[in-house]
Amino acid sequence: MTIPCHRIPERCLHFKGKPMLLCARCFAMLLGYLFTPIALAFNMVVPLWVPLIMAVPLVIDGFTQKWKWRKSNNPVRFITGLLFGVGQSFFISTIASIIVQYVD
Ligand SMILES: [Zn+2]
Repeated sequence: MTIPCHRIPERCLHFKGKPMLLCARCFAMLLGYLFTPIALAFNMVVPLWVPLIMAVPLVIDGFTQKWKWRKSNNPVRFITGLLFGVGQSFFISTIASIIVQYVD
């Protein structure tokens, strides 16, 4: 199985002295996705621009680093990844709610 993450050790959080299997950004995104069951359980519906806005910091952080305009750091990677993941949870619960309304 291929994990779509560069896993560069300096960009990973370390646990017990060893780099984790995912970079700080990917790990935080997955943590954010853990919010999905809660968002679904409480039928959290948001305007679709909300998850889009929540993704913007990650996109800016990722691309400005890729273009070598600046170098990011793990706390920024973690925060922007978490924001993105939680935003995706809102997106999923909103889309699920729209689908359920059509089915009813
Ligand atoms: Zn990654």
